[in-house]
Amino acid sequence: MSCIKQDIRPESGLPGADLAVNGFEAMQPRFPAQTPAGARNGRRVKDAAVPPQGVYLPNNNVLTPQMRSPEYVQMSNAAAITLGIMPGRMHRCGCTRCLNLLLTYPEGCRANCAYCGLARHREAERDYADRNFIRVDWPAVPMEQVVDIVARDREKSPFHRMCISMITHPSSDADTVAVLEAWTARIDPTAIPVSILSNPTTMERADVQRLRDLGADIFTVALDAATPAIFDRTRGKGVQSPHKWQKYWEMLLDARDVFGPQKFGAHIIVGMGETEFEVLSLVQQLVDLGGHSHLFCFFPEQGSLMDHLPATPRDQWRRVQLARYLIDYAGVRVERMRFDGEGRVADYGLPQAELEDIVGQGVAFRTSGCPGKFRDDVSACDRPYGDSPPSNIASFPFQPGRRDLQKIRRQLGIPVVRG
Ligand code: SF4
Repeated sequence: MSCIKQDIRPESGLPGADLAVNGFEAMQPRFPAQTPAGARNGRRVKDAAVPPQGVYLPNNNVLTPQMRSPEYVQMSNAAAITLGIMPGRMHRCGCTRCLNLLLTYPEGCRANCAYCGLARHREAERDYADRNFIRVDWPAVPMEQVVDIVARDREKSPFHRMCISMITHPSSDADTVAVLEAWTARIDPTAIPVSILSNPTTMERADVQRLRDLGADIFTVALDAATPAIFDRTRGKGVQSPHKWQKYWEMLLDARDVFGPQKFGAHIIVGMGETEFEVLSLVQQLVDLGGHSHLFCFFPEQGSLMDHLPATPRDQWRRVQLARYLIDYAGVRVERMRFDGEGRVADYGLPQAELEDIVGQGVAFRTSGCPGKFRDDVSACDRPYGDSPPSNIASFPFQPGRRDLQKIRRQLGIPVVRG
């Protein structure tokens, strides 16, 4: 039998508790240093021209082979373990449900986003294929081998979805098409649907249409920043990076037109200086357009221009996670919520019993992303420990258990259920 006990601790975030946030002033990225000429544009890798031999596991102590999409793609550690390409086990996860593929080139991504481990400024210290991204290494694998393994046993594939992540590179539009075609030639995209994590800076509406015509299922735009000012300082002029807020929105609206309702979305990183009201207003705007938001908790990626800054406090993150779930899946509108003078959620706009029910189900605290085969509000893209260490999980890559939910309730500052 369970009972509800009042057990509110100071880490919580509701009124009267200690409300922690990552504010705008504090979340200022470093300015990128200049890269020596000999390290620019993947020159080390191209000069050495070491031919690749099958799978390449990132290793900063060896000469990185010269690998290039569409023949090669990189994939997350979780995907490589699930595919059987590398050994390993994941804390409390058997496998990942999303095969995330990342385009790869010796020149790497030509953008310089401040929070990102793949950013251009890193070419001084680390070759592209050796860079950490969302906290993990990304092994490089021949695309043909990826398709061979999945096609061998399509029926029993653990993957509910495949995702092609573009980067900012002159070849990435054409190579995304090539990777998609290589996949759909042998794997039915209705059995394992494909998402595109786009790079709007190099794309036009015709590119969006082409990807749809070739069988892509969902198109996402990594806005990442929740406001134009944060976008500009983390992805635009502020860090000598080429991205523009307006261009990202153009592609997002093209995706809405071309892919249709529930088939487009935007990535947003929470805790880069926006208020909770700002990010949740954006979440509402996306829902009103017919799309979804996929949230990431800011984590100071090692080697990035924001690696000196604090991860998003768990109370801020949990409030936004919960409120976003209510907007996306429970029909609550941001106008029904109340915010305090600092823009923090003070009331979720739902009767306490209903709120308790949703918190208790735990789905709101799982990783958000494109859906898998279980249910619409459970993401195939579970990104195990992509935005936190396993010791202090931000996005749960599995269904949170009883003790996880007790911790989440403490972080939210709501009564802890003892069972
Ligand atoms: S465009 Fe994407 S991959 Fe490139 S630096 Fe920005 S966030 Fe990273």
